[in-house]
Amino acid sequence: MRWRTVLVVILLLLVPALSGPSTAAERQSTVGSPKGIDSYWPHDGNGGTDAQHYNVNVDYDFASGTLTGRTVVTMRATQDLTSVYLDLLLPVTSAKVDGRVARTTRSTDHEVRVTLPRAVASGTIFRVELTYRGQPARYDYAGEANWLADGQEVVTMNQPHMAPWWFPSNDHPSDKARFDIRVTVARNKLVASNGRYLGRVVKGTRATTHWQTKDPMATYLAFFAAGDFARETGLSGHGIRYYNFVSKRLGSADRLRATQMLRRTANMTDWLENWLGDYPFATTGGVVTKLPVGFALENQTRPTYGSWIYPGVIVHELAHQWFGDSVSVRRWRDIWLNEGFATFAEVAYDAARTGPSVKSWLKRQYDDSCRFASSPLWTLDLRNPGRDDIFDSAVYDRGAMVLAALQGRIGVADLNELLRTWVADHHDGNVAIAQFEALAETVSGEDLDAFFDAWLGGGVPSGTAGNGLTGACPPA
Ligand SMILES: [Zn+2]
Repeated sequence: MRWRTVLVVILLLLVPALSGPSTAAERQSTVGSPKGIDSYWPHDGNGGTDAQHYNVNVDYDFASGTLTGRTVVTMRATQDLTSVYLDLLLPVTSAKVDGRVARTTRSTDHEVRVTLPRAVASGTIFRVELTYRGQPARYDYAGEANWLADGQEVVTMNQPHMAPWWFPSNDHPSDKARFDIRVTVARNKLVASNGRYLGRVVKGTRATTHWQTKDPMATYLAFFAAGDFARETGLSGHGIRYYNFVSKRLGSADRLRATQMLRRTANMTDWLENWLGDYPFATTGGVVTKLPVGFALENQTRPTYGSWIYPGVIVHELAHQWFGDSVSVRRWRDIWLNEGFATFAEVAYDAARTGPSVKSWLKRQYDDSCRFASSPLWTLDLRNPGRDDIFDSAVYDRGAMVLAALQGRIGVADLNELLRTWVADHHDGNVAIAQFEALAETVSGEDLDAFFDAWLGGGVPSGTAGNGLTGACPPA
């Protein structure tokens, strides 16, 4: 994610702690848990199941803002189960498990409990099918009202939460799965989504477009956009298929500019591949929406942008394909591994072209900010920023400085080997910050505990070579 402007705190309404049926005794029973593993948002994700595949079918009516869905979640039981939970805000209209009618109840607005018609043994693969219908704009969760649409265009883009507004899931990046996404809208609209385009079927006045992703994907990275889009497709220099979508509703100057910006995606994907190693997915591309959106998002294979799209944000969202999408956080507290790294990619891309070197960029950042020790830039604990600060600018700006400083400490060759090893070792996986710290020590052969404590823990690092810096903080 990249904010266009300074983050305004939008998390005003915090859902009060819910007394869900997730006591230790019940977890040991055959009832799945409505809670996941994340201390920041305990109700994200669910216990007892491991999602394998989502077959998402949604029909969206622009006039009424109504979404009608049928999603089949293929899951593996990680314990013996008689009921399971899925995260979904819209009202459920029917449920089946492996083709048998099932009963659903709600423990909270966010949790659908499905009673299994037959008990399922640990390790079993089973399919939960929910049909549901509602107006997503009417729902909020954790203080977020994330439905982004008007009468002509819709884009499902947000982080860390978006899925519960349009499909049921284990909504946490620790449980990635493969997706087939079919979206039905009026036939005069185009639909963008993740992965490969598998075709479009017109029936009467409606058309259904099918997209598929064969690599596992975190639920918040699943998206669709529908509207009056111009579509371009082709191959990058490295032979990666791209699909670009630009809203035709933009004014002609904005539309031309957005089209030209998005065309940079193919070359930037190739540039990042040269730096980081194999692009993690089969396709690339992007979407520029007319809808008023103050941030861009790294939806897997197809980031979404506002009309203010610029080169740095494209590099940022494409770098997330490695850092965040293929290599995903285990918990949201690990967000530095996404945002610090994607922001560092902006610096590295600039340095490779006309911008300052990474070294001089770091020196300027440090010299400009090192006297302001009480600034949130320095006080935030990047290993555990807290749920309201996962998108604080410190996670991005000091987050990028950490990698620039690490390059100063261990050298360009070791840093690049570290990043390439990191994305190769954890392709399609989940990671925690401690794993990166350990790999940095392995690759460099150096003890970096003091370095990472100085840079990640909070406080202004002293301007030493050990901290990857070239001089003390200059006097005012
Ligand atoms: Zn980002």
